[in-house]
Amino acid sequence: MAAEETELGRKRRARRMARLLAETHPDAHCELDHRNPLELAVATILSAQCTDQRVNEVTPKLFARYPTAADYAGADRAELEELIRPTGFFRNKADSLIRLGQLLVERFDGEVPRTLDELVTLPGIGRKTANVILGNAYDVPGITVDTHFSRLVQRWRWTTETDPVKIEHAVGALIERRDWTMLSHRVIFHGRRVCHARKPACGACVLAGDCPSYGIGPTEFETAAKLLKGPRVAELTEQARRYREAKGR
Ligand code: SF4
Repeated sequence: MAAEETELGRKRRARRMARLLAETHPDAHCELDHRNPLELAVATILSAQCTDQRVNEVTPKLFARYPTAADYAGADRAELEELIRPTGFFRNKADSLIRLGQLLVERFDGEVPRTLDELVTLPGIGRKTANVILGNAYDVPGITVDTHFSRLVQRWRWTTETDPVKIEHAVGALIERRDWTMLSHRVIFHGRRVCHARKPACGACVLAGDCPSYGIGPTEFETAAKLLKGPRVAELTEQARRYREAKGR
């Protein structure tokens, strides 16, 4: 399919898939609990090599203890380490949080900056984290390229790039800017729930008709449906069943 696909054809296909993803994952959102940009910055730093769920278990106490950047700057290291220990790599993460607090106070009046260029100068914050913060705390559209996102857009042949920054630009050229943040959440949800790394649920996937990799996972409906994951398995199964009926599969 994609070998002879024109640029315009790919853009149309990508946008059609993006619309299907929006219908399929209406609950997609940033899974790190936060109430302001600082909390999101802290949560994203803690989420390195750790599940969002585990981070969310730790952050209520942490946010209550350190409500401002100055609080992190002046934190007692041992106490901070103890609070974030369950997220792993807690010594490095404590370092990042203390330095983050110090830099925010010194350079940005204690506020989390609003531009990618400024954000990536902060400890523990790379381009991916910066885009999460921009998109979810400041409503500045951003594409978050994590492992799910890279895998899926390659399977979909939206791009052949493997470098995260190049993937970000390639997908940015296909999808309207205002949709970037939500698209990122939806692709990641699809990666977690349907299009798994090892056994994608192709036979229970509503993107099947537009996906050049259809068939790399089981295509028989009942078998594929058993591979679906997450709290909305029943809805995803039903959507896939309707999709197959409509396509006469
Ligand atoms: S058809 Fe298969 S490979 Fe394609 S998006 Fe769906 S689950 Fe992934």
